[in-house]
Amino acid sequence: MFRTRFAPSPTGYLHLGHALSALTVAHCAKVADGEMLLRIENTDFTRCRDDYEQSIHEDLKWLGLDWPEPVRRQSDHFPDYKAALQRLIDAGLVYKCFLSRKDLMAIIEENPAMSAEGPDGPVYFGKPLAATEEERLIEQGVPFAWRLSISEAKAALGTKWKEITCRERSFTDRYAIKTVPITPEIFGDAVIARKDIGTSYHLASVHDDALQNVTHVIRGDDLKEAVHLHRLLQVLLDLPEPIYQHHRLLTDETGKKLSKRDQSPALKDMRENGVSLDDVKQRLGSLLP
Ligand code: GLU
Repeated sequence: MFRTRFAPSPTGYLHLGHALSALTVAHCAKVADGEMLLRIENTDFTRCRDDYEQSIHEDLKWLGLDWPEPVRRQSDHFPDYKAALQRLIDAGLVYKCFLSRKDLMAIIEENPAMSAEGPDGPVYFGKPLAATEEERLIEQGVPFAWRLSISEAKAALGTKWKEITCRERSFTDRYAIKTVPITPEIFGDAVIARKDIGTSYHLASVHDDALQNVTHVIRGDDLKEAVHLHRLLQVLLDLPEPIYQHHRLLTDETGKKLSKRDQSPALKDMRENGVSLDDVKQRLGSLLP
């Protein structure tokens, strides 16, 4: 069965850009006679809030959407993500990184192969410290993140590395599916378990897409590059491969993507001010499928 999901992070009130995404995902599910799940991606407890989460449910109902219950809330499932991380640890594919942001920037500045600007932040390639050095830092209470080692992943996959692809479904070409090569190294050794939360969006999302039998991951173009890392994680964790589909983003008059931080209108305010679903659809216009 065609199953997709809308997976917001409750780090702010949803805005028109989210309405575009949710309506697009729901539309694709409907025309395929499938279903859309709602998943709350709230592992980042430093930014997520319960009132934002509550509002997500109300906003989506206001948009006329429906989804099966119970809704998966990632914060209820940290042990699942820990177990997925443990598999990567056991396979020797990740290493502890104790660098502060300042240390990281200094290293990157001196290394032409690295860069401060990757899809997800700094592009850094490193390796584990000697065991005694790790022990010393841990004893001192220095926090660490887990990074996925591109060189170890390449070594583990051998010739399979070059064969990893992703299937991308198009909005414009009658939902045609293209198979495209992936290049996870654009992320460098990505942080897949953050120092503070013990997981990352990438690991939790990939884990849940597999667990929930998501066949089609449909989301905004801003997450298009994440596919490279997500496909690699799927291969390394032996998870099924969904089809990916990325929709255009809503931009402001200057062409900049709308974000929660900008003054883009919150759906909550719109519904409280009597804006109708038709008004929303009209504002989204031709961006809607
Ligand atoms: N939780 C992510 C966000 O709000 C979306 C994740 C996804 O669709 O893969 O940006």
